[in-house]
Amino acid sequence: MRALAVFPKQREIRVIERPHPARVTGTEVLLRVLEVGVCGTDREIAAFAYGSPPAGSDHLILGHEALAEVVDIGPDVTAVRKGDLVAPTVRRPCPHAACRPCRANRPDFCVTGDYVERGIKGAHGFLQEWVVEDEQHLIRVPRKLADVAVLIEPLTVAAKAEEQAHAIQSGLPWERGRVRTLALGAGPVGLLGALAAAVNQDDTYVYSLQPSTDLRAEITRGFGGTYVSGADVPMAELAQRLGRIDYIFEAVGLSSVGFAALEILGPNGLFVFTGIPELGAPKEIDADRIMRNVVLKNQRILGTVNAGRVGWEDALRDLEQAMFLFPDAVRAIITERRSIDDVPSLLRAKSGIKQVVQLNKE
Ligand code: BGC
Repeated sequence: MRALAVFPKQREIRVIERPHPARVTGTEVLLRVLEVGVCGTDREIAAFAYGSPPAGSDHLILGHEALAEVVDIGPDVTAVRKGDLVAPTVRRPCPHAACRPCRANRPDFCVTGDYVERGIKGAHGFLQEWVVEDEQHLIRVPRKLADVAVLIEPLTVAAKAEEQAHAIQSGLPWERGRVRTLALGAGPVGLLGALAAAVNQDDTYVYSLQPSTDLRAEITRGFGGTYVSGADVPMAELAQRLGRIDYIFEAVGLSSVGFAALEILGPNGLFVFTGIPELGAPKEIDADRIMRNVVLKNQRILGTVNAGRVGWEDALRDLEQAMFLFPDAVRAIITERRSIDDVPSLLRAKSGIKQVVQLNKE
């Protein structure tokens, strides 16, 4: 069977042949991978700037945004059946007894850093035709969602942010009014943040560089949201244009943009960072002004990475609801479907919004 592998030492990316997985035992599940999304993390790994192969391997099989079909199950499997569609989660717990989050099955909050992530860090991913996974890491997906279910993994970013936002804000001693949400950036994560906000019935705004004629702007409007282009409104005027913003979902990965946007956040507002900037020379920010605002306006700033099972289930529900409310806008996020042979070039040149690799056609 075929797989897409990154060889960091040789600085090579290529399709390789691997043996078909052996018979599954215990709670193992044999999966036929259908689709795998490509994201910025994959591009960083392909640029040899992030990620690591499993111990003892000279290569890493890429792919962590997957949709697959259950083909065979071990004798002890109870959660899935042959023929089910599933999305596998990404992170696996560290082995340390003292890591309370991992022991509580929340490796997305791992404190030791010794977790592994399939397709990213220390474990092969899903960009291969067949794969074995334990049933506990699979999320069942209704067949009706098959054409968009590959978006569940990137949507978990917004879902986990929401889980955290809820934990922080549910303790407030008054009822929250209508929430005004701004997604910063209109890549897949930004648009999916807007989708989650729209499904929540927030007043939803997306701010990004592309002109307001771009597909990203159309998708935002398709969600019932408002797209504001950086070409029309500079960041310095955004606060004036939008008024009070309660929730900012950052999905740009540039600290200059992220910190400048803090200016827009209203009283008692929540700012969530999801982008992972490249490290470079230190940048200048007006730290006094930011700190003053954060204190005087009771603002919260948090970072979020990965997601636990609850985040996956929430993401699935958001996607289901979005497919009821605005299916065309959801479908439009996937701009390209390609074969595994195209992946090396796909990883070099970014184009469109979400690119998806098809492995075994349905
Ligand atoms: C993945 C997460 C992962 C993070 C850091 C993201 O692209 O979606 O699952 O935790 O990268 O490796």
